[in-house]
Amino acid sequence: MPRPTVARVDLDALRHNYTLACEKAGTARAMAVVKADGYGHGIAAVAGALANLAPKYAVACLEEARAIRAAGLAQPVVLLQGVHQPGDLAECRERAFEPVLHSAEQLEWLAGAGTPPAFWLKVNSGMNRLGFGPGDLLAVVSGLGVASSRPALQGFVTHFACADDPDSPMTDAQTAAFVSATMPWPELMRSVGNSAAHFRPGQPLFDWSRPGIMLYGGSPVLGKTGPELGLRPVMRLEAPLMATRWLKPGDSVGYGAVWTATVETRMGMVAVGYGDGYPRHAGTGTPAAVGGQRISLIGRVSMDMLAVDLSAAPDARTGDAVELWGDTVPIDEVAGHAGTISYELMTGVTARVPRLYSGN
Ligand SMILES: *Cc1c(COP(=O)(O)O)cnc(C)c1O
Repeated sequence: MPRPTVARVDLDALRHNYTLACEKAGTARAMAVVKADGYGHGIAAVAGALANLAPKYAVACLEEARAIRAAGLAQPVVLLQGVHQPGDLAECRERAFEPVLHSAEQLEWLAGAGTPPAFWLKVNSGMNRLGFGPGDLLAVVSGLGVASSRPALQGFVTHFACADDPDSPMTDAQTAAFVSATMPWPELMRSVGNSAAHFRPGQPLFDWSRPGIMLYGGSPVLGKTGPELGLRPVMRLEAPLMATRWLKPGDSVGYGAVWTATVETRMGMVAVGYGDGYPRHAGTGTPAAVGGQRISLIGRVSMDMLAVDLSAAPDARTGDAVELWGDTVPIDEVAGHAGTISYELMTGVTARVPRLYSGN
């Protein structure tokens, strides 16, 4: 029998979340962001489950777009980082990959590429990672070959830095900069909006929004969990209770002996650790669940196992499945205890953990 440490992936929940993204997007269409192996859920399964809902996918790089085609899916795929070498543009054209071009160098490649692929231009509205400055856009668009690349330009993309924070003035400022920079081309499309922007009242999402984390049930909004926003968790990370024991007052647990029992405590060892992608920085007090009952971690997370306090679950027995995150324990809560975000936890689940799919 295989080791029963698994990531259960609920594809019905994924479709529920995508549908919610579409509702929030209003008149914008939503390209499903499935980069980083579908945020760790498996890109082929995730893209496949959305195939009859999502008109377009978005990924970071060419390799991920190829994985979508290898899964037999035909929708256009937006490459959010463009391409990394000129030779990739021909493949984009042939396979309906739409690179988002962000640099003068990429535009030179485009000019030399023969028939161009459908492409987008990235506008730097304030994030200051990638893109053309709003003031450079006129020159950039006029510089596109009128007979060659200009007709292949689909439109403009920008990305928000602080959309997760409802109190930040940054998103309004970025939206205004984007609107004014792209004003000269009303016939072209506009794409803004990570998941967080879908939850901002009054936020325009233009023609295409780009939900990622919300599809998987992670919260894009500071201080809220996914379920509090109407999202359903897609991944349940689960591992068996391998052993239980009684600790006496004064007994410590695990590396560094950083946790010591003060009263008689029944504890359990769970077969999951940072070698599976469970965050090592999630220390004592991080929630888990067994039999629907919330329990918490004690001591340090090891590579292959971690310890839990079973006081709240006296019926728990060896072999029981422990939920590390899922329906009972929102992944956002675990991320908070580990000083990170749900994105890192989802994408960090290692290859040792089989993904088991339901709902499709
Ligand atoms: C990853 C990414 C998204 C999706 O962001 P979420 O916060 O996961 O919704 C959208 N746009 C761009 C450019 C991205 O890189």
